[in-house]
Amino acid sequence: MKTVIITGIAGQDGTYLAEHLMLKGCRIIGAVRDVSKAQASLPAGLVNTVELVDWDMLDQQKMASTLSHYRPVEIYNFAAYSSGTGMYDDPVGIGEVNGLAVARILEAIREVDPSVRFCQASSREIFGEAASSPQTESTPPNPRSPYGVAKLYADYMIRVYRHRYGLFACSAILFNHESPRRSLEFVTRKITHAAAKIKLGLADELGLGNLDARRDWGFAGDYVRALWLMLQQPQADDYVVASGETHSVRELCECAFGGLGLDYRDYVREESSAYRPVEPALLVGCADKARNELGWVPEVGFSELVSMMVAADLRMLSMKI
Ligand code: GDP
Repeated sequence: MKTVIITGIAGQDGTYLAEHLMLKGCRIIGAVRDVSKAQASLPAGLVNTVELVDWDMLDQQKMASTLSHYRPVEIYNFAAYSSGTGMYDDPVGIGEVNGLAVARILEAIREVDPSVRFCQASSREIFGEAASSPQTESTPPNPRSPYGVAKLYADYMIRVYRHRYGLFACSAILFNHESPRRSLEFVTRKITHAAAKIKLGLADELGLGNLDARRDWGFAGDYVRALWLMLQQPQADDYVVASGETHSVRELCECAFGGLGLDYRDYVREESSAYRPVEPALLVGCADKARNELGWVPEVGFSELVSMMVAADLRMLSMKI
């Protein structure tokens, strides 16, 4: 049985990847900051499957001893400060956890077992004010947030360890990826959750920021499969994982409310006070390399994703009534 470590397993991506690896028959070790908190937030199907272990992104010694103890074949790193509104908060903490900690993991791998395969969840934020669109693996990075700078540092360290030490280390440059497990601060879930509440008579309006902001949104369950495929290849490399199309927040509203037979214009208020001070350049990813080299095929498109999220929110809220 293959042992795999997933950091940040209790988050959206960690849980989807764990479910995928469970089907592959892996022993799954969830490396987390707080075991009891993670235990409480794992989906029911994973509770008895995943083994949780204390993990500290600032403690390289502990990482090495965890690796020595479990002897994983693969490590996937999702533990990080997330993107969104917090991308400019605590720049030093973000640098530590999203950037430097990846160097710690790479060092621990080099020290304990250089044959361990490593996959990093990188981000479209490395492109920031990209000069060209769509973005590919060879688009020059130009991050504009502490979050993007830290993720880029991790990407470059991965390249260093690949070239200098021959480690099998990869970066998945992930564009926005969503699901019913997305937290409510993100605009997709904020909208699907509010639409379901309004439908059930539990709320009557929704305040949003810029309705014309656009994003390249895909389904998290599809994206984690790309990470897994990356570690099954003969050679380590970096890949953009994206849907290749953008939609506006307004289209998201139309789709979420429309699916419930509602007109979003009756409920959504655009509040200029909720506009982000800095909106990024239009980012849209080109995942041709992942499709061609990994055979990665995303299965859920934009409208199916929104319908899936609305249906899950409706179900969850109906159970509470
Ligand atoms: P991000 O791509 O990591 O920033 O993910 P978000 O889901 O937080 O934001 C996506 C886009 O939606 C951004 O351009 C926001 O400006 C826009 N947006 C508009 N209204 C809202 C809102 O009420 N909450 C959030 N989070 N984003 C909003």
